[in-house]
Amino acid sequence: MAHDDVIDPGRLPEEGAFDDQIRPQRLEDFPGQEPIKEKLRIAIQAAKGRGEPLDHMLLAGPPGLGKTTLARILAQEMGVDIKQTSGPVIERQADLSAILTSLEEFDVLFIDEVHRLNHAVEETLYSAMEDFEVDIMLGKGPTARSMKIGLKPFTLIGATTRQGLLTPPLRARFGDTCRFDFYSPEELECIIVRAARILNVPIESDGALEIAMRSRGTARVANRLLRRVRDFAEVKGDGVVTRDVANAALKLLRIDDLGLDDMDRQIISTVIEKFAGGPVGLSSMAVAVGEERQTLEEVHEPYLIQLGFMKRTQQGRVATPLAYKHFGFTPPETEQPRLF
Ligand code: ADP
Repeated sequence: MAHDDVIDPGRLPEEGAFDDQIRPQRLEDFPGQEPIKEKLRIAIQAAKGRGEPLDHMLLAGPPGLGKTTLARILAQEMGVDIKQTSGPVIERQADLSAILTSLEEFDVLFIDEVHRLNHAVEETLYSAMEDFEVDIMLGKGPTARSMKIGLKPFTLIGATTRQGLLTPPLRARFGDTCRFDFYSPEELECIIVRAARILNVPIESDGALEIAMRSRGTARVANRLLRRVRDFAEVKGDGVVTRDVANAALKLLRIDDLGLDDMDRQIISTVIEKFAGGPVGLSSMAVAVGEERQTLEEVHEPYLIQLGFMKRTQQGRVATPLAYKHFGFTPPETEQPRLF
């Protein structure tokens, strides 16, 4: 794996089995996101008490924070099955109708990247969510007619990394929205210690904290770094993940104290050196650093913004004075406000 994949919060192809092994199964096993869990505990208890399905729910936030995991936990806690698909995969209305009619009472349908549903499919979802029914086309050509089919009550859980791209009618049909936050280093430490226990990796708490601090607030990155550090500990040490081992392994992966990699550093130095601190548009930046727009927007920028190194303005991306200082550049003179 190239080192620049290490901080990608999306799932890499080889991570499937690993994901399944360490994915928390119950709410109490899921560290962090306390306000969301609190709200969901109440929702689960209320829905069970009334003998109803959970309300449709939107899970919003950056990739790798646990949206898919939480959707599965919700199904588990409700004692129902979950069917999982994703916005771009459902191409035709008929594909969606087939999934919807296969759901049993109170089942969960999880649609990842729900903002990427096409328009026709999205419209089919409206009546399914609101009235638990879908229109099905029978026959073809001039004799074709549509028929309404009733669905068993179900819960739609949609996940999105781009809440702003959801259409207002779809957004309005979700009973509730849970916004995921980046994890604190202490929460990531819990996540790492838990994964280490499952994977039988001996780890010291200093070692776990060292990895946590550099995991960009993201559970998926934390788990991935743990695996890399484990490899290093087994090959170069006695297998125990100590602080020194974590440090040495992360240095080899070229991830700094803040969790920044070469591309993050290149982005900031490009904005400062080539674009005089900005504002610079996303496309120009993508060309200048040789990276895809989507990767810049979904992987690098959220974390640089969260650290206070970059701002998104109407005109484009701007490097902050904090970024100048951290990366050893002299901030430009700011104009003093005139009093007279
Ligand atoms: P998303 O759907 O938001 O992209 P996932 O649910 O696929 O994220 O989670 C990514 C990885 O991180 C999975 O391997 C999952 O087990 C792990 N993970 C996510 N959140 C947590 C958490 N709170 N505790 C432990 N592991 C987590």
